[in-house]
Amino acid sequence: MTLDLILRNAVLPDGRAGIDLAVRDGRFVEIAPAIAAAASREIDAAGRLVTPPFVDAHFHLDATLTLGLAGKVNETGTLAEGIRLWDELRPHISAEALRARALAYCDLAVSQGLLAIRSHVDVSDDALMGAEVLVEVKKQVAPYLDLQLVAFPQMGYFAKPTLAGNLRRALDLGVEAVGGIPHLEPTAELGRESIRALCAIAAEQGLLVDMHCDETDDPASRQVETLAYETRRLGLSGRVTGSHLCSLHSMDNFYAARLIGHMAAAGLAAVANPLANMVLQGRFDSYPKRRGMTRVPELMAAGCAVALGHDSVLDPWYPLGRADMLEVAHMAVHAGHMTSQAGMRACFAAVTETPARILGLEGYGIEVGRYADCVILQARDPVEAIRLKPVRLAVVRRGRVIAEAAPAVSRLSLPGRPETLDPAAIAAIGV
Ligand SMILES: [Zn+2]
Repeated sequence: MTLDLILRNAVLPDGRAGIDLAVRDGRFVEIAPAIAAAASREIDAAGRLVTPPFVDAHFHLDATLTLGLAGKVNETGTLAEGIRLWDELRPHISAEALRARALAYCDLAVSQGLLAIRSHVDVSDDALMGAEVLVEVKKQVAPYLDLQLVAFPQMGYFAKPTLAGNLRRALDLGVEAVGGIPHLEPTAELGRESIRALCAIAAEQGLLVDMHCDETDDPASRQVETLAYETRRLGLSGRVTGSHLCSLHSMDNFYAARLIGHMAAAGLAAVANPLANMVLQGRFDSYPKRRGMTRVPELMAAGCAVALGHDSVLDPWYPLGRADMLEVAHMAVHAGHMTSQAGMRACFAAVTETPARILGLEGYGIEVGRYADCVILQARDPVEAIRLKPVRLAVVRRGRVIAEAAPAVSRLSLPGRPETLDPAAIAAIGV
């Protein structure tokens, strides 16, 4: 039987080279060297990396692309100003504009090979406009992008009496995970109470949890301790994520080691957001200025599932970004001192297979029987991919090419030198 697609001569993230990938009915049916079969379409990967799609474990699709709206930009660069601006901006955002921005971001994501996003959606507004729109967007993009939504009380679960009801209504609308922001509650005790209440909802309804947790430079912010405890107590292991966890950066090593042990034992996943937190944290420091990213290598070494999120693109919190998860991994390598080969490969996994596991994506990965979802990069291996943040030559979803780009090649005019340059062709020359 004719195949739908064959990708030839691929390198896979685990280092296997010269591999062909055969696709039929939207799934990989054979993965082996030199497959002798015909297909409706063949693509020569030419020794380049073919990776499972990128996955963003932490994003805000309701706020993205709002930078400069109503003339507002974050002047201090602080998290607090970002939250205040968002609160001021929300009334200016129509359902149509929110939908248009979310869909535009999803287009950009697809072009970057980013085919799954966990997005928090603010449920502070009693009309729940953001949740309603993003539930529709989720359905609309489902053929090409997995969007997982988290009900997120941005101003705090106890900020106003209607929030508990808003959060439950958002879940009824089709938002599928429970969010929270315990460090922003009026007191640390109310933060802990919010964790208990929100984890109880998740346990009762069989849902995932992902809380913004300890996104502060204050080493005394220890809400993740309660999140780990509730995860164990309620039997939610493997279903709960702590996002940001910036205070871990500033804690003393003794307490941090003990806490990381509790988190690992609880089966709590962690998401660091290096781009956003490198700029939002440390704003009250003079010198030295803290980096703000949580302890990624230590959490990984303890056995926690650690993913890296983009968090924000062109919004009140982060004025840059282009849906490139390799840019996120690149920053994590720097902020976390993860420049060993193993460290860089771990950062690549933290924007691909690890977040896929955290989100519970079905059929993810380059294996026979799984969905034929993959990306051909203009790079030869995961480390080179992080270094170059290369062109996504082809993005494949369920066996269909949904985005393509020409390789980046420069034409040179240099005496006695080659006429063209592929950036991936310049590498270290080890002898
Ligand atoms: Zn966030």
